[in-house]
Amino acid sequence: LSVCVAGRYIPPHLRNKDVSKNGFYSKSCGWNTAKDAYSSFGNNRGKSAFFNDRGNANRGRFEHGGFGGGGGGGNSRWVEESRDDGDWSKPTPRNERLEHELFSGSNTGINFEKYDDIPVEATGQNCPHHIESFQDVDMGEIVMGNIALSRYTRPTPVQKYAIPIVKSKRDLMACAQTGSGKTAAFLLPILSQIYADGPGEALNAAKENGKFGRRKQYPISLVLAPTRELALQIYDEARKFSYRSRVRPCVVYGGADIGQQIRDLERGCHLLVATPGRLVDMMERGKIGLDYCNYLVLDEADRMLDMGFEPQIRRIVEQDTMPHKGIRQTMMFSATFPKEIQILARDFLEEYIFLAVGRVGSTSENITQKVVWVEESDKRSFLLDLLSATGKDSLTLVFVETKKGADALEDFLYREGYACTSIHGDRSQRDREEALNQFRSGKCPILVATAVAARGLDISNVKHVINFDLPSDIEEYVHRIGRTGRVGNLGLATSFFNDKNGNITKDLLDILVEAKQEVPSWLESLAYEHQHKSSNRGRSKRFSGGFGARDYRQTAAGVNAGGFGGRGGRNQAGHGGTRGFGGGEDPV
Ligand code: ADP
Ligand code: MG
Repeated sequence: LSVCVAGRYIPPHLRNKDVSKNGFYSKSCGWNTAKDAYSSFGNNRGKSAFFNDRGNANRGRFEHGGFGGGGGGGNSRWVEESRDDGDWSKPTPRNERLEHELFSGSNTGINFEKYDDIPVEATGQNCPHHIESFQDVDMGEIVMGNIALSRYTRPTPVQKYAIPIVKSKRDLMACAQTGSGKTAAFLLPILSQIYADGPGEALNAAKENGKFGRRKQYPISLVLAPTRELALQIYDEARKFSYRSRVRPCVVYGGADIGQQIRDLERGCHLLVATPGRLVDMMERGKIGLDYCNYLVLDEADRMLDMGFEPQIRRIVEQDTMPHKGIRQTMMFSATFPKEIQILARDFLEEYIFLAVGRVGSTSENITQKVVWVEESDKRSFLLDLLSATGKDSLTLVFVETKKGADALEDFLYREGYACTSIHGDRSQRDREEALNQFRSGKCPILVATAVAARGLDISNVKHVINFDLPSDIEEYVHRIGRTGRVGNLGLATSFFNDKNGNITKDLLDILVEAKQEVPSWLESLAYEHQHKSSNRGRSKRFSGGFGARDYRQTAAGVNAGGFGGRGGRNQAGHGGTRGFGGGEDPV
């Protein structure tokens, strides 16, 4: 289903939406799918007709955007206020259609019970006690209802610790394995606080602003993510957990129509999910003010603070109107946290708790990792062998290093008769989302991807991740293979290794050993050679120390960290900032 009529592209989060006058999603809205909505436009392709035909099916979508003059604007303000006023801790009425849309299709992994054995360590002063069940902490009626609808029976390890830490207003740096439920670990406690505290000054600011005809929004919480697709996914989770509340989540990201995003913001925005570039744009256009943003989350935080994004993060957090650290609450989440990034992150955190779930930067033991020696010239035929051995209804994600490489491999697989698609930085945003949807739905069970798909994406049923090209740094490897084996499900990761991958040898070996995987003997001897050839970079130490030596503040290096000023370390570590997803020269 291509969601496009008369050349207009509707991003997923704006599809299929309808809002009735009372500000709640209404059952009687008339159409169920984006397709239905568009078919009612008939042949009427003129732009003015498109927007002015207010009695029509498009009404729900556009009436709050202020099209067609004063009436619309006034109405939308009324809707907003009716939504914002009142007791934020009380659930708003049910809506079965929306409930079905939001909550159908959740599942729990088969190894989920084993999750309880994962070692967790919290360091930092006065760490709040962890919980064992969702009932152990008061998150309010709305959050508890949505947890039940999501069929979450118990918190994952990162949630057990992060929820009370966030609830007691502490800053947090949380390092937990891929697929371990980090998103809910920050969304649940933040939303629960917002429901308990109400909108506060942010509401008055928006109202004051509205009086002057400006429609700047003042989100109470901001979640930053490195890729557009991840931002969308977090937004979808936020929609679940804000169901039946007065909180309206929004998402802004590059590559999609900014006008539409602005109109969506103008309908109210209390929790904003954003990619950095588009957010800066929105701030500069006066559409977003961060003056009352009490909760800041950096998801995939080590990526957000590497050299590609750091300037934009500083622009957003330090050089505008956001409350200072110590006043706002700041939370960082990732599966990997190189020491250099931990040190840099201090700029944004106050007296934080460091949470290590499993082992920092490690992989889940639910993922079986295989490394095979494959020469460049044999990669394609080797891949075909793997694919032919793959079960019918499982999804396979194939990572390559470059955009060109992705196109070429997709073409090749297509010619070989495989239903496949691709996602990379040269494809339009529409194509990227379409590709991801086709993959998720199983229509195209093979997705060829560059690093744009390495982080955060939660796609159920990805059984096999293949590193057709290995990445050059180990963090990237950890995130890529983490697209499988999520929330207790089992997964397989196969990596093609040859002479070109010397730089990752030692770190890869450490990861395999730590996750109790089979290590090919050739890899062992290569790593041994490599170690003696090159000067020790010291990075591998991250994976060899005992558990608990992971918060950099706990190590000798941490004690002396005051003097750490340079960026050489990060450069060396492969965080070269070459993966900025907005730029034209971006290889992925
Ligand atoms: P991470 O960010 O750690 O990689 P996600 O936040 O993407 O992981 O969560 C992975 C999946 O686990 C999601 O589909 C999410 O809905 C599910 N999930 C999260 N918490 C729970 C829970 N407590 N019980 C069951 N499933 C959960
Ligand atoms: Mg995540």
